[in-house]
Amino acid sequence: MRTHRIAAIPADGIGPEVIGAGIEVLSALAARDGSFNFEFEHFDWGSERYRATGRLMPEDGAEQLRQFDAIFFGAVGAPDVADHVTLWGLRLAICQPLDQYANVRPTRILPGISSPLRAATADNLDWIIVRENSEGEYAGNGGRAHPGLPLEVATETAVFTRAGVARIMRFAFELARSRPRKLLTVVTKSNAQRHGMVLWDEVAREVAAEYPEVAWDKMLVDAMTVRMTLDPGSLDTIVATNLHADILSDLAAALAGSIGIAPTANLNPERQFPSMFEPIHGSAFDITGKGVANPVGTFWTACMMLDHLGESEASARLMRAVERVTADPRYHTPDLGGQARTAEVTAAVIDALAREDVVAAAG
Ligand code: ATP
Repeated sequence: MRTHRIAAIPADGIGPEVIGAGIEVLSALAARDGSFNFEFEHFDWGSERYRATGRLMPEDGAEQLRQFDAIFFGAVGAPDVADHVTLWGLRLAICQPLDQYANVRPTRILPGISSPLRAATADNLDWIIVRENSEGEYAGNGGRAHPGLPLEVATETAVFTRAGVARIMRFAFELARSRPRKLLTVVTKSNAQRHGMVLWDEVAREVAAEYPEVAWDKMLVDAMTVRMTLDPGSLDTIVATNLHADILSDLAAALAGSIGIAPTANLNPERQFPSMFEPIHGSAFDITGKGVANPVGTFWTACMMLDHLGESEASARLMRAVERVTADPRYHTPDLGGQARTAEVTAAVIDALAREDVVAAAG
């Protein structure tokens, strides 16, 4: 029996609802499979802890996580705590010390889901966005002077290192090469940002020379939004900076039907540290506690975690079950125009897993 030790950090808003659903589905999957299981350890880190103690997680939080095989994360953010406090106090406080430098965000239109784009279908919208997750605009470099005075100043300096850019480019070219179309688009803004982004372009060109079998092109980030909207089929793998990819992947999620469906993995590809898996949506206070959060993004995230843990067959089984459920509009939550509740979608996926086993046994 293979045991996977998972740190569960549901955190804020709908985080506990979707992570609870994810754990239910993963436990059902493992119980049916019988060859692996999970040991979940729950961490109560988040905004409530911040209100009580002044910290979202303990000082040695990242250190505590090092012993786990993976981290299953919900969402962070609260209406009464500044967004930069919650982001830097928890999500970035985990990603950065654990060197999860590659943030991977697949986007597809799942069965039964329609895109707000008339021209987008499951055949022509199938992207994977790679976000540089350790430096760039999120390096935390900058400061403020003359606080409160008329000459108050604030700086926010993006940091691009040759090593940091090279490793994310190499990761993106490898990923592009592993996909059937072997096609990579490098997003940039080197017309206006003539230092960091020019280094980004130069390193892209150098790394591209190592991957002659990958066709690649370069797009300015503004033009990229137009191409994603008007010509989705011309894209496959995409690599962009921390900030650019953050914005583009929200657009991608919306174009694929709902932000409630999109998954993401924060990877430490060398596996020196555990990687972290989370739905891309945030804490969504408007629907918190109502039992209507879409758990599909978390289920897809769970599939990415299973792949990372070496359970590819179980991952494929879970994804098939999820797609069977999204295909049925009775199981669409309100963000998809339906009336289903989180618990109903979760039960339907567990049910579909049982049917998967029957099909597998018959086959
Ligand atoms: P944050 O500021 O923490 O990123 P947020 O709540 O401001 O989060 P998002 O999480 O990006 O923003 O979500 C925007 C809106 O999309 C939410 O207010 C909610 O209405 C909807 N939404 C997000 N996730 C889901 C989900 N899983 N199921 C249903 N609706 C969702």
